[in-house]
Amino acid sequence: MRRPPTLRTIEVFASIQGEGLRLGEPTIFVRLAGCNLRCSFCDTKFAWGRGRARSVADIMAEVRALWRDSPARWVCLTGGEALRQPVAPLIRALRKDGLNVQVETNGTYAPQPEADWYTVSPKPPDYEAHPLFRKKAREVKLVVSRHLTAGAVRAVRRAFPARTPVILQPQGNARWSMRKAVRLLEEASRQGLGNIRIGVQLHKIYGLK
Ligand code: SF4
Repeated sequence: MRRPPTLRTIEVFASIQGEGLRLGEPTIFVRLAGCNLRCSFCDTKFAWGRGRARSVADIMAEVRALWRDSPARWVCLTGGEALRQPVAPLIRALRKDGLNVQVETNGTYAPQPEADWYTVSPKPPDYEAHPLFRKKAREVKLVVSRHLTAGAVRAVRRAFPARTPVILQPQGNARWSMRKAVRLLEEASRQGLGNIRIGVQLHKIYGLK
């Protein structure tokens, strides 16, 4: 008998979306295990490990239990890198229950269909994303690390349609990174680049998970 497909998972929890355009919305997070990159500034290094193999039904049961006590209408698949694993059956199951699904990805894998919202966060050194994300990304997030340059902001801005916002997100809300985000925004504006904004990690300010 074929075993049901599993996803290697780190944790499932209810919180608030602290980043990007969905900032402040109650959200249930499914953090998947493993990442194909090793960014020095990664704030979820604990997700690089193998995690625990869980069936889609098992993950759904935990999401439903959290959902009962939460006003969340969104589930965010995050990581690590969420798209390293075949998440389409989980996305289908979540949407069948009436939940909206956001996927946070570094953009190096192809999108898996059916998600309601892709947040693409290209990473150094090349800041490239799979070409299918050009149309599918609802927002693009750039961590304002020591690596990020005005040239990289320009290249990423040009790689995505003008309607897709590019958000400069300070690394861990550090002051130096916030100052750099403002400088990069001003520089981009001088270069005539539009639809770029600065962001924050709201969950860290509020002391949430
Ligand atoms: S892509 Fe994201 S999860 Fe992976 S190492 Fe970089 S910051 Fe961490």
